[in-house]
Amino acid sequence: MIDQLKSSIRDIPDFPKKGILFKDITTLCKDAAMFQRMVDLMAHRYVGKKIDLVVGIEARGFVVGAALAYKLGAGVVLVRKPGKLPHKTHKASYALEYGTDSLEIHQDAIEAGQNVIIADDLLATGGTAGAVAGLVTQMGGNIVECAFIVELDELKGRDKLLPHPVFSLIKY
Ligand code: AMP
Repeated sequence: MIDQLKSSIRDIPDFPKKGILFKDITTLCKDAAMFQRMVDLMAHRYVGKKIDLVVGIEARGFVVGAALAYKLGAGVVLVRKPGKLPHKTHKASYALEYGTDSLEIHQDAIEAGQNVIIADDLLATGGTAGAVAGLVTQMGGNIVECAFIVELDELKGRDKLLPHPVFSLIKY
């Protein structure tokens, strides 16, 4: 099952810059059976865990996050690039596998004590999800797990997310 999911992900060498092997999940997402399987396998872990919110990271994390939230009967929160969210925000900066960037979340998006899953398509160095975990923690959210479709094992991104649990469906 996981092997089929794995082979539905397309490798794009040297994108967005030389030396990066980009794992393109759009080929997984456009395949109805694969998309459903991916969401079901991820959501299965959290059934009965009283998840209040799934925090999706722009942009592919929105796809995973919204589907997971719907399946779990949870709300979905958007973490976006700077300047995109209309209300008051908290901001965090982070280092990416290719460059640096910042992310924002609405200040009223999470209430203290809410059970939260952080969702994105891929865990590389962990800079992105680590920044989001920092924001969620700062707001008093309880991070139940950080969930990814793909994890690039050798970049040790999960170390940056400690002490939070990390789950990925597919590892490279
Ligand atoms: P990082 O902060 O290094 O863990 O990078 C994770 C973020 O960058 C995720 O939002 C991914 O979508 C994206 N990303 C980083 N490296 C790759 C890659 N090799 N293939 C696809 N997406 C990537």
